[in-house]
Amino acid sequence: MKVPFLNLATALSAEKALVERAISRVLQRGQLVLGPEVLAFERAFADYHQARHCVSVGNGLDALSMMLEAVGVRAGDEVIVPSNTFIATWFAVTSVGARVVPVEPDPEAFNLDAGRVEAAFTNRTKAVLAVHLYGQCAEMRTLQQICKSHRVHLLADAAQAAGARHHGHSCARFGSASAFSFYPTKNLGALGDGGAVLTDSDEIASRLRLLRNYGCPEKDQHEIKGRNSRLDEIQAAILTERLAQYPQQQVRRRHVAQRYLDGLAGLPDIRLPVGRVDEHAWHLFTVRVDNGRRDALRSLLSARGIGTGVYYPIPPHKQPAYRDEATAFPPLPIAEALAEDVLSLPLNGYLTDEEVDDVIEAVRSSVNTWGN
Ligand SMILES: *Cc1c(COP(=O)(O)O)cnc(C)c1O
Repeated sequence: MKVPFLNLATALSAEKALVERAISRVLQRGQLVLGPEVLAFERAFADYHQARHCVSVGNGLDALSMMLEAVGVRAGDEVIVPSNTFIATWFAVTSVGARVVPVEPDPEAFNLDAGRVEAAFTNRTKAVLAVHLYGQCAEMRTLQQICKSHRVHLLADAAQAAGARHHGHSCARFGSASAFSFYPTKNLGALGDGGAVLTDSDEIASRLRLLRNYGCPEKDQHEIKGRNSRLDEIQAAILTERLAQYPQQQVRRRHVAQRYLDGLAGLPDIRLPVGRVDEHAWHLFTVRVDNGRRDALRSLLSARGIGTGVYYPIPPHKQPAYRDEATAFPPLPIAEALAEDVLSLPLNGYLTDEEVDDVIEAVRSSVNTWGN
């Protein structure tokens, strides 16, 4: 591959010193779980997003499901979710015994269509769980008004959106809480699993702190039926080091995204991402390829040595995991169309301008071969 979709080894070799520094700090101290590295990272991650509290946990799915539990979502409740998302958003709702109520996205912005949300409320609706897909904030300002009038929590799946902004504010300033993932391929990745919830609410934060650690406010006392889902000290130390460089990485990602937007403008059958380049966290640069040409373009690019990704080829409601509920879902044609059309180009903090130009050139010449 001339330009692989993502090669973590490239990032790791560039960050070898940083990773070693972080690990040796923890080894010297000998405290491996819920120690000073976790506290330091939580403070830094909360400050970066202008949130009052950060509670780190074991992974993104746990961050989502414990966030739902912490705001009181229970068995029998309904949670409004986007129809096009990574299945973890849905699994989080299902895992606390609640029902997913899928709402279609805006086909251009890829995020929950606020105009369709109102119609999905019932007297069982307990929360709206918006997703900042590909790193771009959902219409949180509008959703916040809708949720306020229905007196339900607005929550965010921000797994792809570390550093994203919305109308000039940090993404975490909107809604009751936001869940993040530090899975290695995310913008801010650990060397394994990790996750966190940001919130301004003292109550949600203290509930999350109990939930993640056996419901334990102090040793041998179990206040609530908790879980074991904690970020470990080594991952926290690595994340603190990486977070210090993250703003620079964001600048680089935005530069790459702008180069793609300029270089790919005006091509037939290619719809470029919309929205503010400087607020998008650019986890993925995702285009829509019209007229059923996505897979053809993907093969042409692969033949030219360009790796691509599809996020996601099968929407959650079409997954076997939801076969028993399938008849309860409304028709979701936009999610199904997106699954056929979306294609993500290489995007990371280590791509060189030459590599970006190689990708642009490969897309342009591939599109030319189908001539219209
Ligand atoms: C990655 C991701 C998750 C889950 O995160 P994990 O850490 O892998 O559990 C949830 N939602 C979205 C949108 C994601 O991209």
